[in-house]
Amino acid sequence: MAEQQIDDKGLRQRCAQCGQTNRIPFRKLNERGKCGRCGAAIGGAIDRPADVLSDAAFRKLVAEAPLPVLVDFWAPWCGPCRMVAPELDKVAKRQAGRVLIVKVDTQALPRLGAELDVQSIPTMAVYRGGRELRRTSGARPAPAIEQFVAQATG
Ligand code: ZN
Repeated sequence: MAEQQIDDKGLRQRCAQCGQTNRIPFRKLNERGKCGRCGAAIGGAIDRPADVLSDAAFRKLVAEAPLPVLVDFWAPWCGPCRMVAPELDKVAKRQAGRVLIVKVDTQALPRLGAELDVQSIPTMAVYRGGRELRRTSGARPAPAIEQFVAQATG
């Protein structure tokens, strides 16, 4: 299980200091905060992909996130999706603070994938201000993913 998850109230991030799970509201993504238990710094530029836990969480995220969101639609049984995962990790590190990267497991959230008309996986889509700007399907390396995001948001 990933260390970062998105539920319908925000991004849940585990404190590196004490292990407490803190929630960062969508509108404050990328802002620095303090752990509710130990006071250690949390938040700041998000540099890892986060898992979307529900349909409602996805809709709130794309509506309220203050920065572009790259969504990776994937499934555990999909081989090419497994190749994309480490590439997305790289993109998340390099684009921390500029683009938020999230993952939607279409097997866990089949209704969302159907509503958004995701025809094949992996599919990547860029959202900003609640709108889908562009989508593409198929696996690709990190630089090509970054190029896709730049074209979508440019
Ligand atoms: Zn803590």
